[in-house]
Amino acid sequence: MKKYFVLCAFLALWVLSGCSNTANEDTPTSVELQAMDTVMTLSVYDEHADDALAAATSEIHRLESLFSINQTDSEIGKLNTQKHATLSPDTQALLMKAIHIRKETGGAFDCTIAPLMEAWGFYDKNYHVPTPTTIDSLLPLVNSEHITLTKDGQCTLSNNAKVDLGGIAKGYTAERIIQILQEHGIEHALISLGGNIQTLGSKPDGSPWSIGIQDPLNTNQIIAKLQIHQGAVVTSGGYIRYFEQDGHRYHHIINPHSGYPADSDLLSVSIISKDGTLADALSTALFVMGEDAAIRYWQNHKNDFDCVLITTDGRTLITPNITAGFTLTSGETPEVIA
Ligand code: AMP
Ligand code: MG
Repeated sequence: MKKYFVLCAFLALWVLSGCSNTANEDTPTSVELQAMDTVMTLSVYDEHADDALAAATSEIHRLESLFSINQTDSEIGKLNTQKHATLSPDTQALLMKAIHIRKETGGAFDCTIAPLMEAWGFYDKNYHVPTPTTIDSLLPLVNSEHITLTKDGQCTLSNNAKVDLGGIAKGYTAERIIQILQEHGIEHALISLGGNIQTLGSKPDGSPWSIGIQDPLNTNQIIAKLQIHQGAVVTSGGYIRYFEQDGHRYHHIINPHSGYPADSDLLSVSIISKDGTLADALSTALFVMGEDAAIRYWQNHKNDFDCVLITTDGRTLITPNITAGFTLTSGETPEVIA
């Protein structure tokens, strides 16, 4: 018996009070759209937001038509089929960053994960557990070193590799949206692209945004609140997309070294960073790594990001920089990572 679950993306992170208004607060102009396999909400605090929101929306669709693995005529679709493509500056920049992060994370994040995602049925929704022989035969295909990318955007895939930018593309898109809103003179905005939250400026009254982190075990609730001014908060977890077969749960974040859904001792990872693309890739990577390796990774990259780790044994760990703006709904005190 197989069951399939996808958490509605707008539930993946709750934004608290970001769109609510008091008498003293400006009212945001918001649009909601479906793109990149998720629900996106863009909220802009400006009287003249329409042009900015129209430009942002069309940029989302443009980037989706470059990065989508489901559209055969996207740049990634063509690259995967023809094994060679001339990439636009956006796809080139994103792929370069993905390759760089693969090296930094020791392969926990690897954008050539596509053959495994396919084998587990995550693309055609024909979910099933592949045989060990199938997994063994696909593991050698998963390695970003099979990608050759020249400075002028010529990209070639060797060893039958295939690229999936699903673990990083929304972070990049969020950053581009913030840039576009800025170019339109917007000073305060909050955007939510599935589990990717990114803010521009603070709230109009100068106070920080309050971002809710979803309880991975009870997705109707939040487990914590986090206050941030400008930046990205991106959450990954095995609870967001998974199927069940014969009483086991198989989620969508695959360990590139084993070929199986990451056997993580973490329920979710939230990354807080000025760099939204990095935050997206690292939320996926640190989930694959598990608690100990995730902590070591943060210890070696303290200036790049902060994080919230929720463990399978019920602990919440946070990095020291975010302690002041972090509250657990339970009233308990989180463990601070040293
Ligand atoms: P996220 O929700 O950001 O954690 O990304 C999950 C998505 O990233 C999956 O749906 C796949 O498209 C892709 N993915 C899964 N496992 C990995 C991995 N280990 N490295 C890079 N991308 C991955
Ligand atoms: Mg990610």
